[in-house]
Amino acid sequence: MSEIVIIGGGLAGLTAALRLSDPHRVTLLEARPRLGGQILTHREAGHVIERGAEGFVFRSEAVPKLAADLGIGDELMGQAVMTSMGFDGQQLRTLAPGEAATFLGFQVPKDDLGKGIRTMRRGMGSLIDALAAAVEARATVRLGRAVEALELAGPGARLTLEGGERIDAVQVLIATAARPAGLLLEPLFGELASAVAAGKTLSSVTVELAFAREALDHPLDATGFVVALEAQQHGLRACTFSTSKFADRAAQGRVSVRLFFRPTAEELETLDDAAWVARAMAGLRRVIAVTGEPDASWVSRWGNALPAFDEAHHSAVAALEAAMEPGPLWLAGSAFHGSGIDAAVRSGEQAAARIAGRLSDS
Ligand SMILES: Cc1cc2nc3c(=O)[nH]c(=O)nc-3n(C[C@H](O)[C@H](O)[C@H](O)COP(=O)(O)OP(=O)(O)OC[C@H]3O[C@@H](n4cnc5c(N)ncnc54)[C@H](O)[C@@H]3O)c2cc1C
Repeated sequence: MSEIVIIGGGLAGLTAALRLSDPHRVTLLEARPRLGGQILTHREAGHVIERGAEGFVFRSEAVPKLAADLGIGDELMGQAVMTSMGFDGQQLRTLAPGEAATFLGFQVPKDDLGKGIRTMRRGMGSLIDALAAAVEARATVRLGRAVEALELAGPGARLTLEGGERIDAVQVLIATAARPAGLLLEPLFGELASAVAAGKTLSSVTVELAFAREALDHPLDATGFVVALEAQQHGLRACTFSTSKFADRAAQGRVSVRLFFRPTAEELETLDDAAWVARAMAGLRRVIAVTGEPDASWVSRWGNALPAFDEAHHSAVAALEAAMEPGPLWLAGSAFHGSGIDAAVRSGEQAAARIAGRLSDS
């Protein structure tokens, strides 16, 4: 029997595994063939390409502490430029701090205005690599192992994996997105779990385009631009000048930009990479003069990845967690306790502390 099983090897699951694996026996099960969930850095020909999250809120204390504990605190870095630009359908102009968020229709806390985000020098994937190495040294990590069912068994729980394998555990932490978590918990918690599974989510497609510097006739002296809601075409919301926003993201004489789309379900399913690259080029050409073609591109699809933290979801999570007390099943991750990297780390830490407390009580 495993003392603790963690379902999901994204940032929250890995953080909890790190904190619990000394002194407990931990098994982490991840459905995909890789760890990291919504964090995935690709490094190719000198380019550092973020396919998922690119950084975390400046005010975060949890992420720098985690990086320091992993011995990679010196890899943290801030933005190289702070100025953001906005495109209103006609022209590009420099925005005041916080105005970029208004363009996109969301609020930024006053304290965060103008501070930008922080990241890791070689990309956010460095945090996952360091976490994975530390966790793999002390716990059992199994990739490509999706959990399909959960039941209570004695004081603990029994998990059934895809393919039929069963694992018993004293405590189980579910660190997945809301839908898989809700579906796993539905047989035990009925409508309380269905309500969490039904939480609204948004999808994202990002397209990174790499060019020789002279192909973009613009100083690129900003973090990038956002597109005003009423001027958006094909769901293109924003573009990051990746090699300007962060230092050391490409070799000398090279640049890359990352375009962020909010796709419909149909677009997500039917458009191939070439179609997304064509949309990205059209969106970029609307705003800046592009004189050459990209010589590399990376399309990243994230279907239903981003939780919409509306009142209904907050209440559904609170009600389900109240019913799950006092264990042996727990939830962690940015699908439940606030979106983003900082929230995922804090949630993983808090879940680990609760589980450790429960084990020391029993
Ligand atoms: C394109 C994009 C850009 C983003 N940019 C930023 C940013 O700049 N800053 C920021 O703060 N946040 C950003 N985010 C959000 C941030 O990446 C996430 O909030 C955070 O990484 C979520 O971590 P998590 O561990 O909670 O969940 P996830 O990363 O979703 O991990 C959950 C894991 O559970 C696994 N899993 C699911 N079901 C099962 C199952 N049945 N059995 C086993 N395993 C299962 C999944 O495969 C996955 O690996 C971005 C997200 C996206 C998609």
